[in-house]
Amino acid sequence: MRVFKFGGASVKDADGIKNVYDVLQKVGYEDVILVVSAMGKTTNALEVVIKNYFDKSAELNSSVQEIKKYHNQILLDLFDDENHAVFGAVNAQFEELEYFLAHNKSPNYNFVYDQVVSFGELISTNILSHYMNFRGIQTQWLDVRNFIKTDATYRDAEVDWEATQQLISKNVPRKILNITQGFLGADENNFTTTLGREGSDYTAGIFAYCLNAESVTIWKDVPGVMNADPRYFENASLLNQISYREAIELAFYGATVIHPKTLQPLQKKEIPLYVKSFINPLLKGTCVSKGVDLEPQYPCFIVKREQLLISLSSIDFSFIMEENISEIFGLFHEFKIKVNLIQNSAISFSVCVEDKFGNFNELNAILSKKFKVEYSENVTLYTIRHFTEQAAETVEKNKEVLLKQVSRETMQIVTKELN
Ligand code: ADP
Ligand code: ASP
Ligand code: MG
Repeated sequence: MRVFKFGGASVKDADGIKNVYDVLQKVGYEDVILVVSAMGKTTNALEVVIKNYFDKSAELNSSVQEIKKYHNQILLDLFDDENHAVFGAVNAQFEELEYFLAHNKSPNYNFVYDQVVSFGELISTNILSHYMNFRGIQTQWLDVRNFIKTDATYRDAEVDWEATQQLISKNVPRKILNITQGFLGADENNFTTTLGREGSDYTAGIFAYCLNAESVTIWKDVPGVMNADPRYFENASLLNQISYREAIELAFYGATVIHPKTLQPLQKKEIPLYVKSFINPLLKGTCVSKGVDLEPQYPCFIVKREQLLISLSSIDFSFIMEENISEIFGLFHEFKIKVNLIQNSAISFSVCVEDKFGNFNELNAILSKKFKVEYSENVTLYTIRHFTEQAAETVEKNKEVLLKQVSRETMQIVTKELN
């Protein structure tokens, strides 16, 4: 069996969905399971709905209507006949969402989040499945919540591998095109859970592992894994082959083309992962598998913007030792601040962090009681795997370098734009 994953960008409009059909015609669809994300930016739009819901905002209804309108336009572009069953089916899903919002009593934000965002994937797969049938490809729509079982950590659920393995290997039909949702799972009580933002790649990895699949292909708007994000580097080049380990490193440092959790299950069973262009599906793309680390051997660049560089030093010139460091990390964890780089000397300790939830001021107040705290906002963290002098120069050009750290294969540079 082959597992294909189509992300939000590939199904963002009617042309995207028609293109999925074309891709399947070209590469075959027997004995395949399609894992599909919500269309375009639907998950972000549903996050706005959730915010409006908890804020008791007057915009709640209009934020739902906007998402409805977006999907309805796609349906009108795909199906000529407004009496086609898909219109009623999608409408029923929106009614279910509205019913939930009107009747929910749970004050648990994360729980509500998962029950609501999941409609993105449930609706996209419903539309895709109807469209494939309409074009003559017989499909089996699967509710992924009957297959992927998780704990009840809403928004970041942990997979129960044993239960999931059993359900998938027993119940996924073969010799047909299956369509299911990425990103979602269900807990013990059958409430919907999610695997973390961008988690659909991971879903593909889970199915592949449990099915002993022949391969996984994630279809992207780029030719494959490149040595840098082409949005930020004009000269980004395609990598033909990378090892699981290299892919894990790239994803870990922030190459957003593959979700970091996807690779481990595949590596365990040596299932190859292809990253290919949904625009040119017959091109080779990138193969992630056992074998050479990187081919060709280009330096690889990863950029993280809007970082915060914090330096802590002891007020009394005492050393920063294990107990301070563990306390500092405990606080970062508590304030949900993600640490991307660490450097320490005898009396100072620097970290480059991401403050996604805007908690730094609160944390700073606590840290300042014990340490001298200095920080630079809005800095950029560059990671260069397999760095060369020339690669470092490109990054440093016209920028102020605030910190640099070098290990055998990886160079990290924190910079500030010169005004
Ligand atoms: P999906 O629709 O599957 O969610 P994403 O938008 O998450 O797809 O991922 C594809 C994007 O990842 C590309 O458009 C590209 O801008 C970005 N990207 C980041 N790093 C890389 C890289 N090293 N190689 C290719 N693309 C990358
Ligand atoms: N739709 C989800 C998200 O946008 C999952 C995914 O696309 O991978 O995060
Ligand atoms: Mg994505």
